[in-house]
Amino acid sequence: MDRPCHPIPADETLPLRLDQALQLLAHSGVPEPHGERGSTAWMQQLIDALVELSSRDALTGLSNRRAFQLALEREIDRVARSGEPALMLVADIDHFKLVNDRFGHAAGDEVIRAVAGVLADSVRPMDLVARVGGEEFAIILPNCPHTFGQTVAERIRQQVERLRVPCANGRELAVSISVGGAFAPQWVRSTPALWLERADLQLYAAKAAGRNRVLLEPTADSHVSHEEKRLLFDSTSFQDFI
Ligand code: GH3
Ligand code: MG
Ligand code: MG
Repeated sequence: MDRPCHPIPADETLPLRLDQALQLLAHSGVPEPHGERGSTAWMQQLIDALVELSSRDALTGLSNRRAFQLALEREIDRVARSGEPALMLVADIDHFKLVNDRFGHAAGDEVIRAVAGVLADSVRPMDLVARVGGEEFAIILPNCPHTFGQTVAERIRQQVERLRVPCANGRELAVSISVGGAFAPQWVRSTPALWLERADLQLYAAKAAGRNRVLLEPTADSHVSHEEKRLLFDSTSFQDFI
């Protein structure tokens, strides 16, 4: 049942200061909530819109780092409960500084936006694509069988390689990405930091090996890392068996 609502008078005696929230939404091109100002339904729409706005990266429209961290925690819980394999990919544009230096920051922004679009279009609706840094992206792929990991990541890499980004004076820019990946350890509760660290290690290795390539942590090793084993055996349910 809907709670009784308390309409907010449209003057400066407002008990809530909503003007800045409404300005922020208007500035971001989000329409103002509809319905009666101050009603529960109106307030809920306002909260939903602000939550959505604070989860998005302004340049690309992808999830931002904050939303990615939340999704990561949820996915770790899900994997520990269901045992379904989940893959995390981290991707970084190769030699991106050169794009900025040669063609300008605005062209760099266009490249980031275009790569973001390719990543978003290359995955399933259930996957989460986030911009986690300047020209760094992360993708969580729930329920991704180990045997598909390399294929999925390689397809993403190739689609970025095929991309041509129009820039000033009629030129087209081509870029590549390096991709690292790791599966979450099944049936074991990892941590966002440990999972991300394993994917990052593969990304660094892909950069060091020459860039424009995919490296996934070998699956046999990705079941349980040293730190995750420690987490597992520190948990009370296992103390009885030691
Ligand atoms: P590597 O292949 O090793 O990744 O080389 P790189 O040049 O891509 O490496 P690095 O991470 O050092 O450079 C990233 C650059 O991205 C540096 C920074 O100026 C630029 N950058 C970060 N955020 C943005 C942004 O939002 N827009 C633009 N245009 N450039 C950005
Ligand atoms: Mg880079
Ligand atoms: Mg980088």
